[in-house]
Amino acid sequence: MLAGLLLILLFPAVISAKTVDVVIAGSTEKVQAFEQHHVVYFSFSELADIIGGHLDWELVGHEVTYTQDTIQFSFLIGSPFFKINNNMFNMTYPATFRKGQLFLPALTFTPFLDREIQQKITWNNDRKLFRIDSEYFNVTDLSVSAKANGLLIEIFLTQALPYEVFVTEGNWINVSIRDGKLNRARILSRKDKRYMYNLKAHQVAGAGQVSIRLRRKIGKWHHKLQYDPPRIQISIADTSFVLNPADTQPVIGPDNKIDVIVIDPGHGGRQYGAIGPNGTREKDIALGIAKRLAKLIRKDKQFKVIMTRDRDKTVSLQERADIANKAGADLFISIHANSTTRRKSRVRGWNVFFLAQALNDSARAVAQFENSAFLRDRNAFEIHNNADDMSDNPIGDPVLTILNDMIMTEFQAESYDFAMMVDREFRRSLKIPARGVDQAGFFVLNMVFTPSVLVEVGFISNKQEEKLLKSKKYQQKVAEAIYRAIKRFKAKYEHQ
Ligand SMILES: [Zn+2]
Repeated sequence: MLAGLLLILLFPAVISAKTVDVVIAGSTEKVQAFEQHHVVYFSFSELADIIGGHLDWELVGHEVTYTQDTIQFSFLIGSPFFKINNNMFNMTYPATFRKGQLFLPALTFTPFLDREIQQKITWNNDRKLFRIDSEYFNVTDLSVSAKANGLLIEIFLTQALPYEVFVTEGNWINVSIRDGKLNRARILSRKDKRYMYNLKAHQVAGAGQVSIRLRRKIGKWHHKLQYDPPRIQISIADTSFVLNPADTQPVIGPDNKIDVIVIDPGHGGRQYGAIGPNGTREKDIALGIAKRLAKLIRKDKQFKVIMTRDRDKTVSLQERADIANKAGADLFISIHANSTTRRKSRVRGWNVFFLAQALNDSARAVAQFENSAFLRDRNAFEIHNNADDMSDNPIGDPVLTILNDMIMTEFQAESYDFAMMVDREFRRSLKIPARGVDQAGFFVLNMVFTPSVLVEVGFISNKQEEKLLKSKKYQQKVAEAIYRAIKRFKAKYEHQ
């Protein structure tokens, strides 16, 4: 949250937004770019999506690292100096943070990138475009077609590669190809609304994954590797296969009723969450509000309430998500209290977050804190327990990370709408500053297959708000506001 202020000071100039082209195997993708003093900066965050590898943000130190296989680049926001595997280089112009993304100077940085990564990449400064050598790809195309008794999915390769097919909740069929290097632009261009709600192509360390969310229930399916040309064939048998192009809206909950409300009090047990200057623990505040909210909803016979914890105990992220998914949750509400790392902090107010990619660094910082708190506690948890618990580490598993990302957009519109309803009720009844609705990537919301929000009911790091958060009156006000928002949501989204 501190980072945002500093970054604004570092980059005060207003610059017009645009994009540059990335020509890759005959297709063209676009990445965001801007020009400042005749230097073109491009979004390395977006380019990394195309070339594979991933970015990690260390907001406190303003450091961003990019990893592809064994190569690691480290950038310092505001500095032209960067490291490649611990050797220092200079790209003349500074690494820049904008709209939640890392921007780098195209002309002076691209040669460094080209030298290190597996693909051949060049920047044409006159035409303002990147060119990426297509020889690199070995997963080249996708085709999905309807047959008499089902669907045929084909993924084209340049050579036989080991692969795995698996079906996951939400009607996703996923194909993970070992050492697969995806031509994402080409594959993503095959999205066909007649057959799929969604299509994703992910490049992760050691594998490429194509995931398709099909429109019809996945019944029996078979796969095999075919030759001439090499391709993975997946046939999905479904005798009742009927194309219904009108039915594009995801249905909330299993029965089209908004009645199952899952309340998720943040942290608990060994996970304390944030701690206030006078020792107030986030986990206790979260539970206090959650219990009051549950009581309100229980009185209302049209709802069923499920809590991910109703006492002070450690519950893993995966367990929280499982509880919600098994219950057929129609709404998922995670309750937290915010904090900053600054001492004697004056930062105050409540936030409502819905799940999406964080658009600004302060939202990102909140997500990072909530996520890292889970991970930190996760580590502590593992010390006291046996290795079985490793399985639900939310970051350690690349497949899970991919799945998380896929779900992100499914209920985004509904989640946003619900966040706005909570926002409206909070504005009416809470006296502390409104920090409003924002979007950010929270692991816990990621794994829940329903509209979800995470509320930060105030800053526990602020002495005044810490006191307020402990008060029964404030906790009750928060609970009542959320309850009213739930009723609004039901009224809008339940169709009879
Ligand atoms: Zn929290």
